[in-house]
Amino acid sequence: MPLGNSIVTDSIDLLQKLIQNKCVNPPGNELKSAQTVKSVLDEYDIKSTIYETDSTNNRGNLVAKIEGTGEGPNLMFGPSHIDVVPISKPTSWEVNPFGGVIKDEFVWGRGALDMLFIVATQVQAFVKLKEEGFQPKGDLTLLIVSDEESGANYGAKWMKENHPEIMNVDYALGEAGGIPINEKSLLVTTAEKGLAWRRVLTKGIPGHGSTPYKSDNAAVNAGIVAKKLANYNPPSDTKYLRDFTKGMKLNILLRLLLNNKLTLPLILRILNRSNAGMAKTFHAMTHMTISPNVIQAGNKTNVIPGEGFLKIDIRTLPNQDDKYVDKHLRKALGKLTNKVSIDIPEDDPDLMNSPGSGSELTPDIYEAMQNAISDYYQDVRLVPFIASGGTDLRFVRDLGGKAYGFSLFDPDTDPNDISTLSHAPNERISLKTVEMTLNAYYNIARELLK
Ligand SMILES: [Zn+2]
Repeated sequence: MPLGNSIVTDSIDLLQKLIQNKCVNPPGNELKSAQTVKSVLDEYDIKSTIYETDSTNNRGNLVAKIEGTGEGPNLMFGPSHIDVVPISKPTSWEVNPFGGVIKDEFVWGRGALDMLFIVATQVQAFVKLKEEGFQPKGDLTLLIVSDEESGANYGAKWMKENHPEIMNVDYALGEAGGIPINEKSLLVTTAEKGLAWRRVLTKGIPGHGSTPYKSDNAAVNAGIVAKKLANYNPPSDTKYLRDFTKGMKLNILLRLLLNNKLTLPLILRILNRSNAGMAKTFHAMTHMTISPNVIQAGNKTNVIPGEGFLKIDIRTLPNQDDKYVDKHLRKALGKLTNKVSIDIPEDDPDLMNSPGSGSELTPDIYEAMQNAISDYYQDVRLVPFIASGGTDLRFVRDLGGKAYGFSLFDPDTDPNDISTLSHAPNERISLKTVEMTLNAYYNIARELLK
């Protein structure tokens, strides 16, 4: 039976406060929200610790724990981040982005979806379990962190480096999953791709733009590099697509064709005509992707440039390391490799290179998740999915724990909205999703740690 109304209301209240706290990263100021969470825990006499990680910008992380008896696995709610991204265009919002407004059965505001509703429901589920005197077999940890949106140096990464004993758990639950993709399937994020951005510097011989015959032009060379990289097809790895299409119970013939390295390219081309979005997703799930997105050379129309560069967004599957990336870049560029130099764009403020990571769905956690959603979803399969962007869950996996993106979105959710509304104007989360996610966390802890 779902939890009563008052704790749902408490979760919504907390979510509104977290939005109003405006912990925009940069600069962060996340201690404000950590204190808000602490005061909720204090009300119930639950001990918590705040680790200050940057006093200049008022940043830090919060940890609370219900000790287990040592007879079962440990579970962590989090690492869940309280920082949010800035507002780029305030005029595009229908409401005050930091008002925490409730309108049309949604809570609106920056961070509502990414991922303050998870923070609020994890805190309240934790409080409820503690209040009921729940004695878990393994520890239940609540970890609220700063700085997920720009590298985690003051958040989950800091915790991993300074307090690995806290991060070292069997299971962790964070963003972003529990998304209905059709009436029968719910996505659980079990893996995430890595980032391996590169910069390619091109050279040329400077000269006058009026006499370009047989010139060596860095702008032209940059264009050739972009074309070669865009046309290159790295080998496919169908592991993640195999798990996904199996979970989706796709037609067996289609599955065979999708999961065969020889037929995959053809199927992707055909799929692209009817459903381009799905073709892009399936391609990203099976390949290292290479996208040359910034290209620059020269600054005067009458001068042949001697230098140029490109910035390349490269996303890797788990197990594809830097060596793999550089090997394929060399292969893509062929003879041109000797005329360029390749490095990492260290000066890029958005740089967050890190390897991909993943966790199998073990029978324990699968069953606990399946039970946890049964108040709202019956006969629905949990389908493992690899996300194309990174989250703080990778730091748990680094220490050997299994980590999943898992919340519970209401059945009316359009999966496309989740990606289009996060970091975007009119970000919002439905009241129903808050209620369902609260119940999911509460039930999963009860089931897994009983
Ligand atoms: Zn997030």
